[in-house]
Amino acid sequence: MDKSTIAIDTKLPRQDAYGSIAMPVYHTAAYEFETAKDMADAFCGRVLAPDYSRVMNPTVMHFEDQVKALTGADNVFAFCSGMAAITNAFLTVIESGKNIVTSRHLFGNTVALITKTFARFGVETRQVDLLDLDAVRKSIDKNTACIYLEIVTNPQLEVADIPALAKIAHENGIPLIADTTVIPFTQFSAKALGVDIEVLSSTKYISGGATSLGGLVIDYGTFPEVNKRIRFELLFNIGSYMSPHAAYMQSLGLETLEARYKMQSDNALELARKLQTVKGIRVNYIGLEDNSFHALAQRQFGKMAGAMLTIDLADQEACFRFIDNLKLIRRATNLFDNKTLAIHPYSTIFGNFTDDEKREMDVKDTTIRISVGLENVDDIFEDIVQAAN
Ligand SMILES: *Cc1c(COP(=O)(O)O)cnc(C)c1O
Repeated sequence: MDKSTIAIDTKLPRQDAYGSIAMPVYHTAAYEFETAKDMADAFCGRVLAPDYSRVMNPTVMHFEDQVKALTGADNVFAFCSGMAAITNAFLTVIESGKNIVTSRHLFGNTVALITKTFARFGVETRQVDLLDLDAVRKSIDKNTACIYLEIVTNPQLEVADIPALAKIAHENGIPLIADTTVIPFTQFSAKALGVDIEVLSSTKYISGGATSLGGLVIDYGTFPEVNKRIRFELLFNIGSYMSPHAAYMQSLGLETLEARYKMQSDNALELARKLQTVKGIRVNYIGLEDNSFHALAQRQFGKMAGAMLTIDLADQEACFRFIDNLKLIRRATNLFDNKTLAIHPYSTIFGNFTDDEKREMDVKDTTIRISVGLENVDDIFEDIVQAAN
């Protein structure tokens, strides 16, 4: 069955009492049981039934079922944000004395999570060039917990060879964890590329209209401790499960994801091509044939290249002037909203890193990140051209 059909037609976990077509929002903290034994079975995980909404909730379970059906994963866990999903995924594999091998090109809060928060608990981070496979191999030792990457880095738009990194991880008996926020799991199979644990911010493409925060851990079952730790330890002890209201909105978002992704990708490609003709603007988009990652991106993620592109202007002053001049495009963070968004990552998302740190991460003061929405592409283009003048 096609992904667009699966997204819409995933069955509810149980027959609804009123035959509701949408999954109802179970706004409840606790659930009553018939017998003491049923209660004990649920609490001890012998039967997977909701007992308390910190750990399981029918509306969230339906959202997780949709993702499971779309990805073929063994287990899917929904959290209250992308960062919560990333944190929980790491917590299944790290402990004091272990290290994480990853890139210098990472989402700002992920960098801070591993190099600041986790560092306080004795976890080391080794940031290497993931395009240099020898450097990756050399950085791994017996204490390495995982290799972690983002499939298209932001804002550098770098694409690594995922099967090659998976091979290195598996030769060392460790999982490859991939943040797949920027290309939806309906477009490609992370599992087929060798990813063991997929993490993503469902705040972005899945929620669609920026209605809610959410994050997913998609576990392909290759490292059994992932399921065991999240289901029987972390959901209970950390308490960062998705809320039923967010799951309701994100289930609806998932139903229209395929249609939105296609239109946003088409818009982004057309916009990038038009922007290439404008003097004073340098455009970076993996969907453009002359982009150095174009062929690899197509091979790994399919024909459509998604809705994130960057433009480079003369200097930071020009970027600020550009952002101030925008009339249609929203001055906002977030990605993959229905609305087109623009941000200057250097002064915002990475604003609290030093200039040296930003140089190391290749975050430039000349770059503006644009998330292309569903508006008419000529209107988006016109706004960019007038703002750049
Ligand atoms: C937004 C984002 C996150 C964090 O997700 P939240 O839902 O905002 O917590 C992580 N990784 C990437 C690549 C992102 O774009």
